[in-house]
Amino acid sequence: MTKHKVSGHLSKSLFTRGTQCHKSLWLHKYQPELKDEADEALEARFRSGHEVGSLAKGLFPGGVEVPYDGLSYAEQLAMTRKLLAEGRETIYEASFQHDGIFVKVDILHRGAAGWELLEVKGTTEVKKHHYLDAAVQLYVLSGAGLKIAKVALVHIDNSYTRLGAIDVQKLFTIEDSTAEVREMQPNIALALADMRTMLAGEMPAIDIGPHCSAPYACDFHGHCWGHIPEDSVFEIGRLSGAKQFDLYRQGMVRQSDVPVQRLSEKQRHQVESTMKQGNTLKKEEVRQFLDALRYPICYLDFETVNPAIPLFDASRPFQMIPFQYSLHVQPSAGAALVHHEFLAQPGVDPREELTATLLWQIPEGATVIAWWKTFEKTRLRELAQHLPQYAARIGRLLESFHDPIELFQSRSVYFWQQKGSSSIKDVLPLIVPELSYDGMDVADGDMAMTAYYDMCATKDPQEVARIRKALLEYCGLDTMAMVRIVEKLRVMADEGG
Ligand code: SF4
Repeated sequence: MTKHKVSGHLSKSLFTRGTQCHKSLWLHKYQPELKDEADEALEARFRSGHEVGSLAKGLFPGGVEVPYDGLSYAEQLAMTRKLLAEGRETIYEASFQHDGIFVKVDILHRGAAGWELLEVKGTTEVKKHHYLDAAVQLYVLSGAGLKIAKVALVHIDNSYTRLGAIDVQKLFTIEDSTAEVREMQPNIALALADMRTMLAGEMPAIDIGPHCSAPYACDFHGHCWGHIPEDSVFEIGRLSGAKQFDLYRQGMVRQSDVPVQRLSEKQRHQVESTMKQGNTLKKEEVRQFLDALRYPICYLDFETVNPAIPLFDASRPFQMIPFQYSLHVQPSAGAALVHHEFLAQPGVDPREELTATLLWQIPEGATVIAWWKTFEKTRLRELAQHLPQYAARIGRLLESFHDPIELFQSRSVYFWQQKGSSSIKDVLPLIVPELSYDGMDVADGDMAMTAYYDMCATKDPQEVARIRKALLEYCGLDTMAMVRIVEKLRVMADEGG
């Protein structure tokens, strides 16, 4: 017995949603209110994708766009028909409908051999699921009567280095995908028929699985994963997703259900800590870490952006550019902390000023503490490459890094509530509960990135001031958190001899 009368069309994005999971498409159609709230990272990806799409149009300049906003589907289809009838060579967002699917083609261009369908991706390589996006478009365009000579996926070439204005011909790579996409055609009609049958019925009984996050993170996660308890197998650190689902499908949902012999030493330690609600403190190892720290001690944290389209000269697509740091310096034992901070001006390449200021503020011979030092050290190496005049000093600095995360990763210090994570965001509330990221306008690295882009985009000085304040507070807390954690480790190592 059917429950729903299927009406309306599917779009390319709904088709790909349905391909990933029928239940996701069903929920989107009938119970969209169950979706998770969009997070900052998703919004940032969306914004980046939009910018990449706009820029890629420059590969075939002089085209006419069929806008989405302000036109109904029928009007977009009519406008496309008119542009084709006029003999236009290039149409952006050309709109077609066939078999109940409405698609908009990023770039439709009349090449020497006929019409070329180009799908733009904001990634540095073609991924398997990208072919599906192009395949559904080819299905619709062919069904609508347009003969397509070539299908291509356009993606970013991350070997491109910006010098002056963006050179779109060098920024993008056009990959002929005609053969792969044609081969998929028979499956499109079958997949569509399946989706229609599914949409006419009750919600499909699909359990959670790897499809919840691949190829895209599903936005019904909160709804579908509600039955998973806090101490589940999905929280066992360094256990692959495949193995987690393997255990889950065998009915082992809680960590306590898993036979310990199926786990590594660290995983076993985590599971046993969770079951006993017990913590670990190996004082000797903590003391060794602390004894290696020499004053002055500097606590350093970078914030970075990695835009798909390089913002500055001498930078590549997706290159991490540090735009902010916080530095707490403790000159000697018991001395007052000195706080330095740097935040780039909007739209200005921050690298030289940031590097010069940072190297001036870190005393020669100091110990540098960074949480997950690989990140800060890699950024410094990149800065040394970009600014060779600072390479020798950066080289010495790289030798002086120490990283408290190693104590937590090695399980020398472990709180059962860490759930296998050694992120500072998870450790801080357990060691220094009075410090918290809760309620901050910027509360993680993704939000800091978004805030930086917002700061560069706005012309309102008050808004710039508000964003700067939020960014400085956030980054300052990252280094203060390290200061307080190290202080607490000293107390913990001394307690009880
Ligand atoms: S969370 Fe997983 S099971 Fe639920 S709709 Fe999304 S993909 Fe399907």
